Amino acid sequence: TWGRVRDELFKAVGKNNYVTWIEPLKLADLSGGIARIEVPNSFMGDWVSRNFGDQIRSLLNKSGEEVDRLEFHVSATRPVQAARLADPAAMASPKKPARTAMNGRGSEDADLPGAPLDGRFTFDSFVVGKPNELAHAAARRVAEGGAVTFNPLFLYGGVGLGKTHLMHAIAHELQLRQPEARVLYLSAEQFMYRFVQALREKQIMDFKELFRSVDVLMVDDVQFIAGKDSTQEEFFHTFNALVDQHKQIVISADRAPGEIKDLEERIKSRLQCGLVVDLHPTDYELRLGILQTKAEGYRQQYAGLQLAPGVLEFLAHRITTNVRVLEGALTRLFAFASLVGREITLDLAQDCLADILRHSDRRVTIEEIQRKVAEHYNIRLSDMIGPKRVRTIARPRQIAMHLCKHMTTRSLPEIGRRFGGRDHTTIMHGIRKIDELRAGDSQLAEDLELLRRLISA
Ligand code: ADP
Ligand code: MG
Repeated sequence: TWGRVRDELFKAVGKNNYVTWIEPLKLADLSGGIARIEVPNSFMGDWVSRNFGDQIRSLLNKSGEEVDRLEFHVSATRPVQAARLADPAAMASPKKPARTAMNGRGSEDADLPGAPLDGRFTFDSFVVGKPNELAHAAARRVAEGGAVTFNPLFLYGGVGLGKTHLMHAIAHELQLRQPEARVLYLSAEQFMYRFVQALREKQIMDFKELFRSVDVLMVDDVQFIAGKDSTQEEFFHTFNALVDQHKQIVISADRAPGEIKDLEERIKSRLQCGLVVDLHPTDYELRLGILQTKAEGYRQQYAGLQLAPGVLEFLAHRITTNVRVLEGALTRLFAFASLVGREITLDLAQDCLADILRHSDRRVTIEEIQRKVAEHYNIRLSDMIGPKRVRTIARPRQIAMHLCKHMTTRSLPEIGRRFGGRDHTTIMHGIRKIDELRAGDSQLAEDLELLRRLISA
């Protein structure tokens, strides 16, 4: 039964989710309407229960079992961690290394060779949305400290999606909660630099001791050590030594462990042993959320500066590459507006950010108009094209028709076809209706203008 349910789940949740969440589950017992499922840690139990619980239950029921409830138990043995290879170099390292820091400079945390933390990168300033929800939850869990729940936590995602921000947030939080904990954050590049330096200065034992004496090790952008053989080797030993001592490790990279080229297989598989989560590309809502949060800060900084409605929405639609670019645009906009002493309007944004916006210039398609209008009015794309006649759907549909007429070179019959096979007279009627309404409805006129800019600009 469980095998079949797992197969179904594979189809339902996709490979990534399956590998991360479903594969580690064990069905321990099924009786009295309760399915008891073993999970490697409670975080996974919570997550699976919340996100896949209903699906698992209904699939069990479908396969002929009577299940009212799922219960998640943390399994006594942790297979992934129990399976650690005995690593000779790690075994050779002293059990309780003396805390002599590198270069003989005193001891304790002040001398940890970490990178400075950015004070702005905290959990408070991190805006959570669908694309980063899981990474955020996992980071939070690690930051709470206590028992090591998954090791390592591996965060990956494209440039500017918040990996470094989350890692710093973990470090800040840990230092707050456990001031005595030795938390070491550094980039993989710095790790390599330290290692090479230690080799050169014949202080390799100090290096090893130092890295193996930390409570939490965080290495950012680990893809950097791919192809750097001796650094990889040392990283591998450090990693193993810390895992054996049940110390938490947090790693980030720009892609999944299995996809990092020139990274040794054994390192890849080690990196996959814990929890691997990705930060997805941002969606419109998350971008808008980030802009609103940032703009709030700027409004205090630049008191008296006016921000016209629609500007943030415009930016969230148009700048989709990464959060860093989005933030940069907003920063420039506020600085510029305060310099020239003007309100921040759509016009000002277009002037001031022309170079950034130009990147997204292209010919407008009917489909794109439909999508943007549907997004703007929060209706389904299928309803935009479908037969429903309720005002909340019909009006946006007419607006989209209007925009298609004015923003593309398509003929009315063609537009009609793309609106679910409507007749060209229906399209014409829709366009006229909007022209009529907008004469007396300034809200509608503004909406139309905003949409037009969002779509073309
Ligand atoms: P990465 O390390 O993934 O390349 P960063 O963590 O450096 O990305 O993030 C780039 C910028 O975007 C930083 O200034 C960061 O604060 C900001 N940022 C990214 N995601 C978020 C978010 N969800 N909420 C707030 N700021 C974010
Ligand atoms: Mg980064």
